[in-house]
Amino acid sequence: MLSNKEKQLIKKEETFCSNTYNPLPVVLKKGKGVYVWDVHCKKYLDFLSSYSAVNQGHCNSKILRSFTRQARRLTLTSRGFYNSELGDSLEYITKTFGYDKMLPMNSGAEAVESAIKICRKWGHEVKGIKKDVAKIITCNGNFHGRTTTIISFSSSKGSKENFGPLTPGFEIIDYNNIKQLEDVLKKDKNIAGFLVEPIQGEGGVVVPDDGYLSKSKKLCEKYNVLFIADEIQTGIGRTGKLLASWHEDIIPDIVILGKALSAGFYPVSGVLTSKDIMSVMQVGSHGSTFGGNPLAGVVAKASIKYTLDYKLSENAENLGKIFRDGLEEIKSRRKIIKGIRGKGLLNAIILDCDIKSKIPWNICLSMKDNGLLAKPTQGNKIRFAPPLVINKRQIKKALKIIDLSLSEF
Ligand SMILES: *Cc1c(COP(=O)(O)O)cnc(C)c1O
Repeated sequence: MLSNKEKQLIKKEETFCSNTYNPLPVVLKKGKGVYVWDVHCKKYLDFLSSYSAVNQGHCNSKILRSFTRQARRLTLTSRGFYNSELGDSLEYITKTFGYDKMLPMNSGAEAVESAIKICRKWGHEVKGIKKDVAKIITCNGNFHGRTTTIISFSSSKGSKENFGPLTPGFEIIDYNNIKQLEDVLKKDKNIAGFLVEPIQGEGGVVVPDDGYLSKSKKLCEKYNVLFIADEIQTGIGRTGKLLASWHEDIIPDIVILGKALSAGFYPVSGVLTSKDIMSVMQVGSHGSTFGGNPLAGVVAKASIKYTLDYKLSENAENLGKIFRDGLEEIKSRRKIIKGIRGKGLLNAIILDCDIKSKIPWNICLSMKDNGLLAKPTQGNKIRFAPPLVINKRQIKKALKIIDLSLSEF
């Protein structure tokens, strides 16, 4: 039951904010670590983690300290000037991930846009594709953000309908299908890149077959095409390694980061690549007023440092196994779960119901009442992605809540 206060706050948000989301009816006021509290101080385990932007936990006190220290000192210079933090931060980040350079941006979609621009320019200037005909391969079921160009290769009707004219230059193939990738690469000489998520997060936590990424990478090398990993959701420890690509020991030509690069404090994203590839971007070819500001630099460095210092990838790997084992045990008793999939702490259950069914939503409402927040994705799936600072006791508690909530269905 919602209180009058909650009803009022929800009404106000719905009245004055664009209605582009369908939020769970809970009004949050405070967060710490894996927990969030609503306006009546009811505590919840947050199993959405702001779509994996708060891997390091809500209001992480170490990162908060770096953030406030820098916020008091200097926040924005624009890249019209140098600043005291950017070089140091990007040195730390590029060395950690094993790249030469990073193009700093703000939101995930902007970083994807930037990667597309780098890739196209590389295609035209280095690979030698004729002017303005370079193509990029993407996959069905992808999610790469919401700009006009990015939605042009989205499979989701709602995200592209009536937003045309759409941007040309994308070839869409099935995810997890090596043969289709090779067929396109073989017949089309104008391909500059392959843009792929190591696990399709928004697509419903779709984990490809073992070897898919490494085989794709090999094909890209064979056909002189850039392998671009969108690790905005899978990166920064989420799947049990700092990058999900590392599960298959591959080094993408370009890596896109966002979300947890910010630890939830401040939008910060970036494109990592080699000196050679980045060299196509010259003075005047790209820019962003906020991209590369000292506050974002400090936050990004602190977010990565915390992830490494506190071994969040290892924690995601270990607790992810315990979590999936627990879900399997629940599945053996509760027929409503049809499948379980995921890696590290990016997991989902597939429910035995229709895509249009209200059951997933009602299960999320029930879990909310029992103290755990998660959301349905792609109709009949529920994604579970807690902050990576979660411990074993909290995982066990979450499993109890999930089990209890499913018992009603
Ligand atoms: C969230 C997400 C994006 C878009 O990030 P925004 O910050 O919302 O623009 C892009 N790619 C993937 C894989 C994502 O999960």
